[in-house]
Amino acid sequence: MSNSTADTGFIGLGAMGEHMAAHLAAAGRLAAVYNRSPARAAAFAERHGVTAAESVEDLGAACATVVVCVSADDDVEQVCERLAGSMAAGGLVIDCSTVARDTAIRVAARLAERGIAFVDAPVSGGTEGARKGSLTIMAGGDDDAFARARPTLDIMGERIHHMGPVGAGQATKAVNQVLCAGINRAVTEAVAFGEALGLPMEQVVDVVGSGAGGNWFINHRGKTMLRDQYPLGFKVALHAKDLGICAAMADAVGVPLPLSEQTRADYARLMEAGHGDEDISSLYRLIRPPASPDSDA
Ligand code: NAP
Repeated sequence: MSNSTADTGFIGLGAMGEHMAAHLAAAGRLAAVYNRSPARAAAFAERHGVTAAESVEDLGAACATVVVCVSADDDVEQVCERLAGSMAAGGLVIDCSTVARDTAIRVAARLAERGIAFVDAPVSGGTEGARKGSLTIMAGGDDDAFARARPTLDIMGERIHHMGPVGAGQATKAVNQVLCAGINRAVTEAVAFGEALGLPMEQVVDVVGSGAGGNWFINHRGKTMLRDQYPLGFKVALHAKDLGICAAMADAVGVPLPLSEQTRADYARLMEAGHGDEDISSLYRLIRPPASPDSDA
């Protein structure tokens, strides 16, 4: 590896991972990266002076700590299975992907068979938070594993919370995603209502955004949705994936999530209409008053 004091590998240089890995590189902790499409890894390695591993196994064999940030449950399971077969006993895997609590528990048990510790550490704060290193991170794992993961998490995020045993991070993230589904729905519905009433909506957004109903979403997305603009922060398809996880977890404990389910059904309509890669504020496409000329989904 190009940096002999660095012992950390990073798998998954996507919209989030690229920035998170860059912070580890800047801190002198990153030894190697792996990305499924190799061009991304090669470009990152060139920019940051680290090694582009040719396989998960090469990276696992070379690194004592591996951070994973890939798309969904199957991807985490596949990558961790390959790490179980390649990392040395005593290693640590930190998974920052958003997946189900059961997936985290299963993967941790598999890695534990090989003497490898595991922490689930899903993040909140979007690509902007990843770029700034200001993510909120919700971690699950035993005390020893969390203590070992903490210095790495501190480099990628600002607020690091140990929520309990393995899976507790993912469970907390699921609560967060349910909250975001409700806020998106409340904001889009309120803005549509205001438009239908013929109010000066830019002003209304400023007024209600500074009162008891104020929140990040109305303040950062209220005016853009009025202009039919949906600047990307968090993709519809990713939130839909997360709400599927929440639905299964809620089902398992017998808790109904009607608001989230309505948002999930609307996201399915948006994805069918080709808007899955847009910001979640594009929910407004479905909710804005019918008189709007651009109601296209
Ligand atoms: P993304 O841009 O789509 O990147 C996904 C990454 O995972 C890519 O590097 C992809 O490789 C890799 N990957 C996917 N399947 C793989 C597999 N089977 N084996 C190896 N690599 C695989 O996604 P993202 O936005 O970075 O999100 C990553 C995770 O963070 C997701 O779980 C997401 O829910 C969560 N998250 C995202 C946000 C956000 O605002 N975007 C916020 C919080 C949490 P390729 O380059 O080859 O496709």
